[in-house]
Amino acid sequence: VERGDAVALDLTDPVAAFRDRFSVVTDGPIYMDGNSLGRPPAGIGEALAAGVGAWRSELVSGWEEWIDLPGRVGDRLGRLIGAAAGQVLVCDSTTVNLYKLAAAALRSRPGRREIVTEQSDFPTDRYVIEGLAASEGRVVRAVGPAGSDAGAVERDIAAAIGPDTALVCLSHVHYRTGLRLDMARLTARAHDEGALILWDLAHSAGACPVELDAGGVDLAVGCTYKYLNGGPGAPGFLYVGAALQEELVQPIWGWFGQAEQFAMGEGYRPAGGVARFLTGTPGILGLIAVDSAIAVSEQAGIAALWAKSVGLTSLLIERAEERLVPLGARIVTPALPDHRGAHVAVAHPRAWAWCRALIESGRVIGDFRSPDVVRLGPAPLYTRYTECFDAIEAMAETLGSAPDNPPARRVT
Ligand SMILES: *Cc1c(COP(=O)(O)O)cnc(C)c1O
Repeated sequence: VERGDAVALDLTDPVAAFRDRFSVVTDGPIYMDGNSLGRPPAGIGEALAAGVGAWRSELVSGWEEWIDLPGRVGDRLGRLIGAAAGQVLVCDSTTVNLYKLAAAALRSRPGRREIVTEQSDFPTDRYVIEGLAASEGRVVRAVGPAGSDAGAVERDIAAAIGPDTALVCLSHVHYRTGLRLDMARLTARAHDEGALILWDLAHSAGACPVELDAGGVDLAVGCTYKYLNGGPGAPGFLYVGAALQEELVQPIWGWFGQAEQFAMGEGYRPAGGVARFLTGTPGILGLIAVDSAIAVSEQAGIAALWAKSVGLTSLLIERAEERLVPLGARIVTPALPDHRGAHVAVAHPRAWAWCRALIESGRVIGDFRSPDVVRLGPAPLYTRYTECFDAIEAMAETLGSAPDNPPARRVT
């Protein structure tokens, strides 16, 4: 690939104009961490100021308008992940939502002992499942280690699911490798055995095509501060398929999930529909930010964003093969777009020092993922093809000068 190819791709990029909504400083470092924390879109400050204005003028009566925001923003987000209205809530954190849905699923399958997961999944997912296995008296059957061969990973997971599986809990896109699993196929496999399935969409929502309803998915959770740009610590989301909503009871019996919240009555009776998966008072300013931010992804459209993601990651991979592999790096992310998400992982024994050197030189902000990966997340709304080209060039130039990793370095 030549730099001219990247320039040409930028010129014909149908979503190029969306970059203007993110007030990107052109001579600043190249931001390759939109999959960890998205940039703030234009309009989010005004939306938050309006929210504070309503708080100031309406005080407690503002709740009339705020109270159904988790469902309203959820319906809007649902359209980006193939979910019809009434199945998505924006609330709590991804971790808490994962706990709520996984616990509800396990309790609806009391006779089955196993939870099928993937050994190298994101820490919070592993810990929540470990904790639930302990409290619910189940065992974790963790498939792995995860390589870069999507077909092999899927076969291993499919083989681990059986008549004793209560729940299958997986990340759609792996946080480190970028490997993307076949959601419809593994969902069908779980259902063949009578198990429920829960998908973590942290690295898919806002970037990859997701069809929850069409795929017959039971449960899903995800983040709004990554590709959806809701801001640091913006609330998570959860999805419960309509067919399951009356069957499942979540473990946190809070007043927002109660059938008659303001009757303040004795005893917990779960609300109908997805509302039973609420817990306590939602963070309204965070919801306002998410609502404003996802409007931008909505306008660009997931199909266009995904097409650009494929273009950006393809360019990163091709250029990394030319410039970084000869220097001893290895591309971990699957080569086939059908098997990967929207980020690219490059492994090197000195990855930690390499990543630090890139950040400290002010050239590229990526992130290190233990033990040996530099992760590049070019968010399609605001990243240019030329930035991908230039980021690899900066990586090639920086690798020679990066010192060895400090010996005991294990975490980010
Ligand atoms: C980022 C991420 C999370 C984050 O969970 P929080 O509760 O928002 O901290 C969870 N799961 C995966 C797979 C992630 O990538």
